[in-house]
Amino acid sequence: MTSPRVNLLDFDADQMAAYVAGLNEKPFRAKQLMQWIHQRGVSDINDMSDLAKSFRASLLDKAEVLSLPVIKDEHALDGTRKWLLDVGAGNAVESVFIPEDDRGTLCISSQAGCAVNCRFCSTGHQGFSRNLTSGEIIGQLWFAEHLLRNDPEAIRRVEKFPTPGWEHTGRVISNVVMMGMGEPLLNYDNVVAALRLMLDDRAYGLSRRRVTVSTSGVVPMIDRLAQDCPVALAVSLHAPNDALRDQLVPLNQKYPLRELLDACERYLPFAPRDFLTFEYCMLDGVNDSDIQAKELVRLLKNIKCKINLIPFNPFPESGLKRSSAQRINAFAGILLDAGMVATVRKTRGDDIAAACGQLAGDVVDRTRVRERAVHNAEIELTEVEPDEEFDEDTNLGLNEHPIEWLKKLK
Ligand code: SAH
Ligand code: SF4
Repeated sequence: MTSPRVNLLDFDADQMAAYVAGLNEKPFRAKQLMQWIHQRGVSDINDMSDLAKSFRASLLDKAEVLSLPVIKDEHALDGTRKWLLDVGAGNAVESVFIPEDDRGTLCISSQAGCAVNCRFCSTGHQGFSRNLTSGEIIGQLWFAEHLLRNDPEAIRRVEKFPTPGWEHTGRVISNVVMMGMGEPLLNYDNVVAALRLMLDDRAYGLSRRRVTVSTSGVVPMIDRLAQDCPVALAVSLHAPNDALRDQLVPLNQKYPLRELLDACERYLPFAPRDFLTFEYCMLDGVNDSDIQAKELVRLLKNIKCKINLIPFNPFPESGLKRSSAQRINAFAGILLDAGMVATVRKTRGDDIAAACGQLAGDVVDRTRVRERAVHNAEIELTEVEPDEEFDEDTNLGLNEHPIEWLKKLK
């Protein structure tokens, strides 16, 4: 029986060197392979023309370059592009490309589903299936970068607005954010292997400032990331106190705010910039009052940070509403008046549900999160019409204040 081929996308530089050494080839062959695969986007080993014929023959026998099959490719009116990728066994994940004048950002997934189950996140509502391998994570960048290099629209943008320092690379993706499906720090080893490839000059050569890991607050792994691969860190906060955060981000019950903020302070000396980002999803009547803004100021006043207010991206099952633009501005105003740095995130790719927290892919739930949530919230959920077209200005039929509803969910 022949053994299955290895996927060369699974190897970081050291692993590629070890693999090549194991085939009795010289070390520079590993570098050549990395360049063919990650810089030139070549997947067919036959096309790697400067590799010796005998080496190619042995690779063809044992190895392949395999990225995730694309199930759906969607284009939004604002240029955002979303891919649904098949990860097998009925699971699919999503990646999103967001073009802007001065950068091209790819948002990638780290898990099929997510076990953290934040109340406002459609990925969390789907439950958890499995961790992605490092090849499946880096494969999202490999695929998008090389596909977009052949997309006239993406090329026009890069030519018109070259990312500073990137003028001559011909690359389309200048920034990567791990803000797709999944909690990256709960798939630590595979995520770090993929991050190393993103930063490696033989592969994508991104600077640490241009790669961001977003986490709901897995405290021990924040400390490990500082040592292993200190890229930019964004922490999903969403509440100014433990009582509310326990409900919105259930992981807070394990790693409460004080522990999380201490870990953030320990990370700062390793961070590529001298600040961290805190994400705060604006939920109408839940976490968006003046009092909560002042509480947030007190909580964060001693840590160098930027607060990114994200207007909640609704999905019908959440039973939550987006804060009004007026409320978001008032909330931001309190932060700014207190001398904090705060921005409001532009929502992108609305027409293809590509915004934060709307990535749902397709997940075969192994944690029964959904089942449990439905069971616990039976009475409330029956009041929601799942097929009704969602209108962000209408309450979804919940007769009570969302926070009361959240309390019942617990
Ligand atoms: N698991 C990681 C990264 C993926 S989520 C994390 O939680 O940080 C990426 C960002 O989108 C997080 O800040 C998350 O809180 C936010 N988010 C999730 N659901 C959202 C929604 N429905 N609307 C707006 N932002 C959302
Ligand atoms: Fe998971 Fe992040 Fe969604 Fe929370 S917000 S459920 S951690 S993907």
